[in-house]
Amino acid sequence: MSSEELVAFVKDLVNSRTLPAIPENCRGNEELEKIFVQMLEIRKAILAFSGGDFSQDIETKGFIAGGLKGLQAHLKHMIWQVQMVAGGDFSQRVEFMGEFAVSFNAMVEQLRSTIEDLQRKEELLSALTNKLQLEIEEKIKIEQALRASEARYKNLASTDALTGLYNRRYFFKAAANEIARIKRNKRSFCLGIMDVDHFKKFNDEYGHQNGDRCLVQIARLALKSIREMDLLARYGGEEFIFLFPEANMEQGFAIAERIRNFIANVPVVMTNSTSASVTVSIGLRLVEEFEGQTTNELLQTAIQQADIALYMAKNKGRDKVIVSYGEEYTI
Ligand code: GH3
Ligand code: MG
Ligand code: MG
Repeated sequence: MSSEELVAFVKDLVNSRTLPAIPENCRGNEELEKIFVQMLEIRKAILAFSGGDFSQDIETKGFIAGGLKGLQAHLKHMIWQVQMVAGGDFSQRVEFMGEFAVSFNAMVEQLRSTIEDLQRKEELLSALTNKLQLEIEEKIKIEQALRASEARYKNLASTDALTGLYNRRYFFKAAANEIARIKRNKRSFCLGIMDVDHFKKFNDEYGHQNGDRCLVQIARLALKSIREMDLLARYGGEEFIFLFPEANMEQGFAIAERIRNFIANVPVVMTNSTSASVTVSIGLRLVEEFEGQTTNELLQTAIQQADIALYMAKNKGRDKVIVSYGEEYTI
């Protein structure tokens, strides 16, 4: 082949986008053909590298091919290292490729320390969140306990521990309010005092614990017998007090009788499952006149009169309701 043809081929090989074919007329010159094949293969590999494809097998030997193979191995190893870093392995270091290695290593170290820093902050934040959560739970518990004890104390101040009924203190407050309202509306009311008959004997015979059971049952039966608007409280010991707002004599007597009758007919079951009966006496005062009396005076007079009626019921044989009205008593 002529030197012009050789120059044209090498020129195309180096500069042309299309791959030149090995000239026909160099066939037979084995050395030249081998060099051309080598040059074509090297060109193919370089173009593949520049397109990001490092999978080419470079079969040809020689100094330039050797350099290319070295570069290919480095780049392949680097790709693997980058994949390892992406998977969280920050121990990867590049020990070749000069300036790139320095920058890569600095970048991985920076990533490692930033992530460690973030993890430390996350742990700290989660510890703080846990602590805060515990503190909030503790505060909620304290608040609930406070509210429960506040409710308990409010309850204690107005109820009787044994029977669960209102206590005397609460009765006076609530009855005064009711009487004031009744007085304004010029209506009537009945006030009753109920006392357990021969309760000392009951205690002596059955024991104090059964006496307590008896009081609890009496409270329950009385509560069942009254109307929703009525007030019932434990007055003290084995005595109970009622207020029947708006009740006239017949109505007041009917409610009191219902209570007395209910208690007399439901036996008390003892701790040893035997039963005993118990009766109560009730003194009732009807109040229809309000002129010239304060609410408190009305309440105190009604209690005194009910007490007298109760005393009469006891004297008349117990298990009775006696009503005091005006200057009279039902006997
Ligand atoms: P009466 O029919 O005249 O009312 O006779 P009584 O025995 O019921 O009256 P007395 O006043 O002599 O006795 C009342 C008894 O009530 C004495 C007391 O020990 C008892 N008692 C008072 N409070 C309680 C209590 O909370 N539980 C018990 N088990 N007994 C009580
Ligand atoms: Mg008594
Ligand atoms: Mg009694």
